[in-house]
Amino acid sequence: MNKYREALEEMVWQFAYRDVKDGISVLRTGGLSALEFGFAALGWPDPYVWTYDGDGIICDVKDCAGWVCVQGGVWEPGYWMICSSHHDAWLKKQPKPEMKQRAIDREAKRDPVTGRLSLVAREGCEGFR
Ligand SMILES: [Zn+2]
Repeated sequence: MNKYREALEEMVWQFAYRDVKDGISVLRTGGLSALEFGFAALGWPDPYVWTYDGDGIICDVKDCAGWVCVQGGVWEPGYWMICSSHHDAWLKKQPKPEMKQRAIDREAKRDPVTGRLSLVAREGCEGFR
């Protein structure tokens, strides 16, 4: 990939507004001209549909497209990565919702002593393209 395009994608990814539209994860410019130029240069519409349902990016809860804002400390055991809506549900002491299979598979790979994921287990989690 062209290094300038890759750099621009990384910047847009970092600063774009995260949203959910009709149950789909999207990135938005928020009307900021720098992001509008970035989206245009990449050929991305606004909103841009985010299709990668990755660990640490999109909520672990089944059928949820929310962006992760809380990692760990909810519905233990497990180091669930959840969106603000599901964090609110946890704060209201609602029962643990059904989690996505990728999250269940990830948690099954944790070291029982350290709680860490091995590098092999994390391989499938790295990157978002
Ligand atoms: Zn969620």
